[in-house]
Amino acid sequence: MIKTIETDVLVVGAGPAGSSAAKHAARGGAEVFLMDKKSEIGTPKRCAEGVSKKGLKKLGIKPSSRWIAAEMDKIRLVSPSSIDVWLNQDNVDLPETGYNLERKVFDKHMAMDAARAGSQIMIKTLARGLIIKEDHVLVKAIHMEEQVNIKTKIVIGADGPESRVGRWAGLKTGIKAKNMESGVQFEMVGVELEDAQATEFYFGRVAPGGYAWVFPKGEDMANVGLGVINTMTTRDAYEHLLDFVKNCETTKNAVPVEFNAGGIPVGGPLEKLTTNNVMVIGDAAGQVNPFTGGGIITGMQAGLIAGEVAANAVKDGNWSQDVLKEYERRWQEENGAEFRKYLKAKEYLLSLSDEELDSLARAFQGNDFERISPTALLKKLVKVSPKAMLKLGRIF
Ligand SMILES: Cc1cc2nc3c(=O)[nH]c(=O)nc-3n(C[C@H](O)[C@H](O)[C@H](O)COP(=O)(O)OP(=O)(O)OC[C@H]3O[C@@H](n4cnc5c(N)ncnc54)[C@H](O)[C@@H]3O)c2cc1C
Repeated sequence: MIKTIETDVLVVGAGPAGSSAAKHAARGGAEVFLMDKKSEIGTPKRCAEGVSKKGLKKLGIKPSSRWIAAEMDKIRLVSPSSIDVWLNQDNVDLPETGYNLERKVFDKHMAMDAARAGSQIMIKTLARGLIIKEDHVLVKAIHMEEQVNIKTKIVIGADGPESRVGRWAGLKTGIKAKNMESGVQFEMVGVELEDAQATEFYFGRVAPGGYAWVFPKGEDMANVGLGVINTMTTRDAYEHLLDFVKNCETTKNAVPVEFNAGGIPVGGPLEKLTTNNVMVIGDAAGQVNPFTGGGIITGMQAGLIAGEVAANAVKDGNWSQDVLKEYERRWQEENGAEFRKYLKAKEYLLSLSDEELDSLARAFQGNDFERISPTALLKKLVKVSPKAMLKLGRIF
């Protein structure tokens, strides 16, 4: 006899997005189960672990020394010919910088917060399929090697970049190759950082379609990685990473202690994020900043909204798509315009040759960003690349 669990809300995936959804659905009074196929939530990580302070604050999450590895207050941008531009975190509002997390601990703590709010957690539980019935969803899963069914009013799919939940529910989840970055990374020791409080980004041929990064986690430790679009290079991401590490002054003597790889959906959110009884959030919904590839904060924001909408739906006894699409509306309201702006900025950056990137870096080198106005910034960009500027349109 297969065991059946009944609940109001089932969240599939206990990454940052899923734990946030479970926490807010439970806070809203719903009965919630959060499941993850992993035996240890957060492990292994697939992330450079950068988040903005502003993002955490907006989510109401108090920073804790237990899951913050390092605090960043500067950004170093490096062009293909190693011309670097230094930005000060106080003056330039760049996402995905502020804290470098210890995600293995952070993710677990976010799940603990969900449990404290009242959610149940099922670890080592793999969702294998779902059937949408008249007034509920039946999710088939394997929990600790045993088959289990979960009968739930609402399913929140937070199952990351290789998501299945959306597809099982009939949503269009296919992502074009040009919109999926391959991310690879070493966590390294022996890194010779110019400044242990500076997040470093490297542009141009080192990472076709993306960029390379060095995100410090201590005086001589860092996440060193890159993202590439496979249609823009004949080599695989790992080969690019080996080359980058060998040729970069900061990392050439460093030693890897961990390897991480994963897909990063950078084409913007799916067209539809809800259907009857089902919502998708986080990487599963393509809610990754298309410019930076960062999805922790945006996924958690989606989780917060989806959790609240789910709890209200349960209270009102209606979890049809008409009700759940309130989540889509609120997410678009908070992030839609910003994401469109970042998509354009990415298009612009990818249209620049290595020479143009070098000119851009030269034009900005030594600038006092506290005093540069958007008009002055625009003038400099037009001077460097008038053609590419047309693509930018009115993003500034
Ligand atoms: C190399 C790399 C570097 C990155 N660097 C950054 C960065 O610096 N900053 C940033 O903000 N973002 C970064 N990202 C993106 C970030 O990691 C993701 O956006 C973020 O983890 C998304 O959170 P999520 O909860 O949506 O999904 P995930 O964190 O992927 O969590 C999904 C969870 O679902 C579980 N799961 C999947 N399928 C099932 C199933 N069938 N049943 C049960 N459980 C299931 C998985 O085990 C997993 O725990 C990076 C990504 C990569 C690959």
